[in-house]
Amino acid sequence: MSSRDTTTHHSPLTIALPWLADDLDDLARQNLRRERRTVTPLPDGRCRVEDRTLVNFASNDYLNLANDPRVVEAARQAFGEAGAGARASALVCGRTAWHEQLEARLATFERQEAAVLFPTGYAANVGTIAALAGPDDLVCCDRLNHSSLVDGCRLSRAKLLVYRHDRLDRLARALHKARTRRRRLIVTDGVFSMDGVLAPLRALCELADKFDAALIVDEAHASGVFGEHGRGAAEHLGVEDRGIVRIGTLSKAVGALGGFVAGPQPLIDWLWNTARTQMFSTALPPAVCAAATAAIDIIESEPWRRERLHALSERLRQPLAAARIRTVPNSTGPIVPVVVGLPEAAVAAGRALEEAGFLVASNRPPTVPRGTSRLRISLTCAHGEDDVDRLAGALVQTMHAVAQSRPVTYT
Ligand code: PMP
Repeated sequence: MSSRDTTTHHSPLTIALPWLADDLDDLARQNLRRERRTVTPLPDGRCRVEDRTLVNFASNDYLNLANDPRVVEAARQAFGEAGAGARASALVCGRTAWHEQLEARLATFERQEAAVLFPTGYAANVGTIAALAGPDDLVCCDRLNHSSLVDGCRLSRAKLLVYRHDRLDRLARALHKARTRRRRLIVTDGVFSMDGVLAPLRALCELADKFDAALIVDEAHASGVFGEHGRGAAEHLGVEDRGIVRIGTLSKAVGALGGFVAGPQPLIDWLWNTARTQMFSTALPPAVCAAATAAIDIIESEPWRRERLHALSERLRQPLAAARIRTVPNSTGPIVPVVVGLPEAAVAAGRALEEAGFLVASNRPPTVPRGTSRLRISLTCAHGEDDVDRLAGALVQTMHAVAQSRPVTYT
């Protein structure tokens, strides 16, 4: 089947929405139009795209668990017993023993009293923020936060402050000004997904304490990856016991699908009762829960995966630094962003790498701020040292070619 766009411009719907074709052309003119492709995952950090095998540096399967035989077998068994779908939302009749087991497993893994599942990490973020803040409150959202956090803030109808984590004095002022509001929330990614930079969680905890605010941390790219036991940026930065609302996703290092919040029982009970993306959406498929439970067992018992990931990340960063190729300052861990600047340059660099045998994401606005289009390399512990060395060589070549054609900007 072709992956080409097959939209017809003459259907009754496109006649009713006559602006669609023009606006799509506009996106294309700005090099911002997205094209979808069909990708077949393969073992050893590889994938197949249009009859070519590429080394896959675009996947979030950081710990190589999506295809782990133990994870797949757990899913297969549950699939055989429970079938494909959950049949209803969790509160109606969709919460099976596999859901219950995963909630309990997440609570122990996160060292919390309880956990609640959501259909995706996106839904967990949107539903949780909207359940914890309302029109009388202030929510403070880092400008680099993932869209799902931004959407949750907007949906809450609270007053929204967008802050920069390199200007926490402004955040402090806004929190001070909002001291008479009903509630104050600070919302941040644990690791910023496009920058691979850790949030300043210690400083944010101090501000939360000082201004009687709640801190919500989305550990999507940090769970399983950071912290001695894989409990994310909060563990890595030593703030686990500071009363943070912890949100995670099961779609990245856990290799499956779904989102969750782990915390004290009253918080979890509140989310069972009020988080609309959980209440009004079908529960996760039981087989996905079984897969995630098996994956968490592996995350706990095989720390070598995390250690290897960080070693590979160092191995890639060193030659890039030596060749003066710009990653984002302070970026660390398996997300290695190479900032290119213009969207067309990012797309061209992505194509050149693909020619060389590597699949790398080219991120453009609105995924990243204007002027900072980039290659986002994500490493997994399935990659070989040789894959990383060859990628570094190809990146150096590609970036030199890009630098010769136009200046690199990073703001
Ligand atoms: N938070 C962050 C930081 C993310 O990068 C993503 C996914 N890209 C999500 C949340 C959403 O998670 P999910 O894919 O499980 O919906």
